[in-house]
Amino acid sequence: MHELREGDGILRDGTRPREVICELARRFYALGWVSGTGGGISLKDGERILMAPSGVQKELLAPEDLFVLDAHGAILERPRDATLALSACAPLFLHAFHKRRAGAVLHSHSLSAVCATLLSDEPVFRATHLEMIKGVPGHGYHDALVVPILENTPNECDLADALAAAMDTHPATSAVLVRRHGVYVWGESWQKAKTTAECLDYVFAAAVELRKLGVDVARTPTG
Ligand code: ZN
Repeated sequence: MHELREGDGILRDGTRPREVICELARRFYALGWVSGTGGGISLKDGERILMAPSGVQKELLAPEDLFVLDAHGAILERPRDATLALSACAPLFLHAFHKRRAGAVLHSHSLSAVCATLLSDEPVFRATHLEMIKGVPGHGYHDALVVPILENTPNECDLADALAAAMDTHPATSAVLVRRHGVYVWGESWQKAKTTAECLDYVFAAAVELRKLGVDVARTPTG
């Protein structure tokens, strides 16, 4: 019997990447992260990269709708529907795969992420002393979570160089925010990327809600 291995359409954890992308898209749509055809999801399958196409109803995504790229971003397989276009996020996703050896990259247009970028004019988002920060790799409860914020550009692909520079400047970060736009999050597996994205989104939402109460999550609590 042919032994399944990574790159054959099944991941080390036994999940099938095409189905994982579609399921994550449905769940993220329900969270408001990929509504209006926005956002994106990409997974590594061995040396191959699977990526959701641009401008599609993410909650209706089917396994045959995905692009398959090589490690350099060249298209190996196109979706069954020839009218589908590669995501404008592709160059940004590739930076996470190359620079961070990510297994999965998620791009969300979450309202909480967008609002969190507008809490200050600083080029970073800061938070500390929130339990959910512990879900972000490399962080404990007392640590300062710092997520770089890029200024948005009219075309998403024009963010790629700034994203790469932010990864270099912030070697500990698992995410990069884009002001008035959303957030890119990565992890060594789709499970890690999903968990990190959920924890970060909680912290972004908490920061926005607590600001209304006059509480600044960037400040270490006293007493
Ligand atoms: Zn976007």
